[in-house]
Amino acid sequence: MTKENTYRRDKRSPTPKSEAVSRVMSANKSKNTKPEILFRKALWKAGFRGYRLHQKKLPGRPDIAFTTKKVAIFVNGCFWHRCPHCKLKLPKSNTQFWEEKFTKNIRRDQAKQAELAKHDWKVLVVWECELKKNMEAQVEKVKKLLGDIKKYEVEQEEFLKAAEEEELYGNE
Ligand SMILES: [Zn+2]
Repeated sequence: MTKENTYRRDKRSPTPKSEAVSRVMSANKSKNTKPEILFRKALWKAGFRGYRLHQKKLPGRPDIAFTTKKVAIFVNGCFWHRCPHCKLKLPKSNTQFWEEKFTKNIRRDQAKQAELAKHDWKVLVVWECELKKNMEAQVEKVKKLLGDIKKYEVEQEEFLKAAEEEELYGNE
C-alpha cells in the first residue's frame, strides 16, 4: 500500500464523536505501543537479546523478530486488532465504518501472518489483555517457540545473519 492510499483512507475517517473513541484513535500507533514496550522489557529481563524490531522487510513488520530462529511476534492492541478474548463492542457511532475498518485490519493481519508462515516463520500473537493478565506466561510462550537454544547463541546468530535476512525478504 502506498502512503498516498493510506492518507486518503484516513481522510475518510469520521470525526470521533465520543471522547473514548477519540482517545483510542489518537492512541493508535503501530509501533512502540505501551504493551509492546512492557513486553520487550520482560523479554530483556528474561535474558533474550538480539531480537529485531519492526523489520520493514518482513511481512507485517512484526513488532519483535528473532530472525535466525524465524520467530515473529506481534503485540496486538485489543481494540484495533479485535482481540478474540475481549470481544470489544463496536463504537456506537459510525458503526459501519468501524466494522469495515476492523474487518480490513483482521484480514490484513491474517494475510501477513500467512505470508510469514509460508516462509517457515512461527508467528506468535500476544494480546494486550494477556500481557496485563500475565506477562510471565507470554514470556514462557516465547521461550517455548525458541526452543532449547541458549540465549547468547540467538544473539550471536542474529548478529551474523541480520544482513542476509534483509536480502531474503526484500520484496515486500
Ligand atoms: Zn484482549
